[in-house]
Amino acid sequence: MSESTRSVIVIGGGLAGLSAAVRLAEAGRVVTLVEATRAGGGRARSFHDATLDREVDNGQHLMMGCYRETLAFLRAIDSTDGIYFQKNLEVTMVKPGGKRLHLQCPALPAPLHLATGLLAMRGLGLLDKAAALRAGLMLRGEVQRPDDNETCDSWLRRLGQTPTLRNAFWDPLIWGTLNDDPLVSSAAMFTAVLDRAFLTSRDASRLGVPKVPLSRLYVEQSLAYLRARGCELRLGESVRALEVVNSRVTGVTLKSGDTLAADVVVSSVPPQAFLDMLPGTLPSHPVYQDIARLRPSPIVNLWFSVDRAPFEDPFIGLVAGPLHWMFNRSRIEGEVGGEVMMNCTISAARSCVDDPPETLQALLQSELQRYFPAAGPQGPKIKRFKVIKEKRATISHAAGTYHCRPEVTGPVRGLYMAGDWVRTGLPATIESAVQSGHDAAKAILTSERN
Ligand SMILES: Cc1cc2nc3c(=O)[nH]c(=O)nc-3n(C[C@H](O)[C@H](O)[C@H](O)COP(=O)(O)OP(=O)(O)OC[C@H]3O[C@@H](n4cnc5c(N)ncnc54)[C@H](O)[C@@H]3O)c2cc1C
Repeated sequence: MSESTRSVIVIGGGLAGLSAAVRLAEAGRVVTLVEATRAGGGRARSFHDATLDREVDNGQHLMMGCYRETLAFLRAIDSTDGIYFQKNLEVTMVKPGGKRLHLQCPALPAPLHLATGLLAMRGLGLLDKAAALRAGLMLRGEVQRPDDNETCDSWLRRLGQTPTLRNAFWDPLIWGTLNDDPLVSSAAMFTAVLDRAFLTSRDASRLGVPKVPLSRLYVEQSLAYLRARGCELRLGESVRALEVVNSRVTGVTLKSGDTLAADVVVSSVPPQAFLDMLPGTLPSHPVYQDIARLRPSPIVNLWFSVDRAPFEDPFIGLVAGPLHWMFNRSRIEGEVGGEVMMNCTISAARSCVDDPPETLQALLQSELQRYFPAAGPQGPKIKRFKVIKEKRATISHAAGTYHCRPEVTGPVRGLYMAGDWVRTGLPATIESAVQSGHDAAKAILTSERN
């Protein structure tokens, strides 16, 4: 069959599905995109919220300069302007009581910029700085690397990292990048992040925050890109089952009962949704049984407005507390005057994901007082409040689970798997999702040539 007559279906309009579809359309393929919701965006989406009376993201998303595939995707859909990127890595952490620890990396080549930044970090003692240097040696590969069975906690202990340095730097980085507790999460997964962020170039460790709602950042742009190239967008339609004959995919059946024929199908849905689409005895195949072993990890986001900002930085980390990161959305979006819109992220939020909104609002109010006492005995007053719970925000990166993640190709010919959870060498992040989409597109285009 010639390349142009091969029909391609992409299931799922999140970052993985859209990046796969855009890459394929870029190469001249006409794709049919099937997405269950009318708006798309999956776990990185925005929507209008009546309580806050504004468009909000389902959760604050941070990016890094090392998100190479994501930046290439945003360039392809002409949307790089929507992100605010730091010039050099800079992070402020606040301790209970309001004392600040400030990491500012100078304009030096990697990883010298991080070493210098840590050594100059106010609030760290000599022992902490010696420990940072020891970790720097690890980053250059001079001590034994962890494997996927070692936890971050065990690895950091092995490197003699002090409690202060862990609270101020390592642990927040682990909660944030792996969305899991350092006590259970895989050190190999964490060093994959460190390698990309701190060893390649100085720019790689800069943090980026979207200045516009996520749907505007990439969903609308991608859909417009695909429409302009004649792709068919079936939004608000779900795939019920994959059609497979003699271990080869032949199409999909929609929940409506319609069947769409295709030679190539890219599934970019989350693990359980993927398993639910497998027909017959396929779920018992070892590759798919491994997928069933992946467990989810939740994220809770607290959106709130206050009468005055507790801090002027775009975002800060909270040292050793139940709330992890706070973002001043008004500052990031350049809003002046009126209520200040804030966002607070709780990663791997297993301990509070089932709490009612009143409990979470009370926790937030007391933590604001605890970390920002300078704001007075009442702390900044919360005016509007909204909780967004993502119970299956990402897969859990518990040590020893990486082997359960599949490659983009599997036992069914013509069926490609994408999504932040496939084997990209990265934790489940925006970059992993986009890389998986690009990997699937590359595998399809390569197979056509062979
Ligand atoms: C609250 C939160 C905060 C996060 N913060 C960060 C961050 O700061 N930095 C970072 O890098 N990453 C972050 N992430 C992770 C990031 O959002 C995800 O890795 C990424 O969005 C996953 O994209 P995906 O395309 O793989 O999957 P999804 O976004 O889940 O997309 C799958 C799509 O498939 C559709 N679908 C499902 N079943 C079917 C079906 N049967 N038929 C048709 N369509 C179907 C869904 O509707 C969905 O649109 C965060 C995630 C959450 C939830």
